[in-house]
Amino acid sequence: MDFTVSEKMQAVISMMDEFVDRELIPMEPEVATKTFAEMEPELEKKRDMVKKMELWAPNHPVEYGGMGLSLTEHALVSECLGRSPLGHYVFNCQAPDAGNIEILHLHGTEEQKKRWLVPLVEGRIRSCFSMTEVELPGSNPLLLDTTAVKDGDHYVINGHKWYSTAADGAAFSIVMAVTNPEAPPYLRASMIIVPTDTPGFNLVRNIPVMGHAGDGYFSHGEILFQDCRVPVENLLGPEGHGFVIAQERLGPGRIHHCMRWLGICRRAFDLMCHRAANRPMGNDKTLAHKQIVQAWVAECAAQIQAARAMVLYAAWKMDTLGQKEARDEISGIKFFVANTMEMVVDRALQVHGGLGMTDDTPLAFFYRHERAARIYDGADEVHKVSMGRRILSRYENRTVR
Ligand SMILES: Cc1cc2nc3c(=O)[nH]c(=O)nc-3n(C[C@H](O)[C@H](O)[C@H](O)COP(=O)(O)OP(=O)(O)OC[C@H]3O[C@@H](n4cnc5c(N)ncnc54)[C@H](O)[C@@H]3O)c2cc1C
Repeated sequence: MDFTVSEKMQAVISMMDEFVDRELIPMEPEVATKTFAEMEPELEKKRDMVKKMELWAPNHPVEYGGMGLSLTEHALVSECLGRSPLGHYVFNCQAPDAGNIEILHLHGTEEQKKRWLVPLVEGRIRSCFSMTEVELPGSNPLLLDTTAVKDGDHYVINGHKWYSTAADGAAFSIVMAVTNPEAPPYLRASMIIVPTDTPGFNLVRNIPVMGHAGDGYFSHGEILFQDCRVPVENLLGPEGHGFVIAQERLGPGRIHHCMRWLGICRRAFDLMCHRAANRPMGNDKTLAHKQIVQAWVAECAAQIQAARAMVLYAAWKMDTLGQKEARDEISGIKFFVANTMEMVVDRALQVHGGLGMTDDTPLAFFYRHERAARIYDGADEVHKVSMGRRILSRYENRTVR
């Protein structure tokens, strides 16, 4: 494998880095004081600037107006944009739209692409993804209560979902619902496009997360589907193939999150080192003179370096050999990078002392919102157990000397 960064990518990354520093970081204090709706007009201006720079939708297909970068290239981009909580949104490569774009690109009909995919890549609408249910464990998605029953040329959807990220203000949700209850477990559910203005699509609330309910893109919705009728044409892929499509979506989705977390690590690490090097502690010494801080910095640097190498390797493997071959690497980075990020953010916050607890730096935002990294897209434990099981199975009936 060769991780040499091409000249084109070096130019792209340096433009993006500069944009994040110049245009987005100065806006960050507003994230704590304004609603998303209040920030949106300014964010739209930034998005227009990105379009003019031809850096829009880096990971999305060229035919729909994206840059069409490979996963390995997108890893570099995402690390750069992840430094700011606004980065991915302003460049239109944010979850959950990124995953929904992939689904629509791979499984949408021409009509679905025209109606949903095109405006999504253009950034004219937002979307959400509704799989997790309130009453059942998201860790075992086969346990779904939400049903979509055929009635003539419509599906009638009933169910109770939550944690549909960015549901507030989304134009549609891709909903996972049981369409074939008698089929084998993996063929029981389907993905269905549900416009959010359909009667029976009820956004109950934006769930408070660590004390912040948020709004718009910065929120997680609880949704009650009550006799919500959508045309059968809104089915994505063949009926009963919801989990097949979900597997395809979750692989790249997981790797995208890990790439973004590298950016958070980088930002938190830079803030930590800068604070330590400049915080006077008396006797002409700074915090950087304390050995324990030096050890933290070294540990964080080594962890980040390892995490980065693992993410690039997983992306390269997916680019060259496909998702199935990269299953262990994806599981490995999902828990390793999430824990690295948590450790780096925590240490950076500690080094900042009382300042770390305020919203005067982005550390408290990262601390609140990124703790979830160890839970969504497969909890740490689920990835560890399935990765360990796969590895151990390769030792069955095998001689090792
Ligand atoms: C911020 C955030 C955003 C999200 N966005 C979305 C979204 O956009 N769309 C969507 O559909 N869902 C979303 N989710 C939901 C997420 O996918 C689920 O929370 C996740 O799958 C875990 O499911 P659960 O919360 O029901 O926990 P449970 O399944 O009840 O698990 C609870 C805990 O049990 C442990 N556990 C579970 N399985 C095992 C096992 N096999 N072995 C050992 N321990 C185990 C883990 O520690 C786990 O954290 C989001 C969640 C969060 C927090």
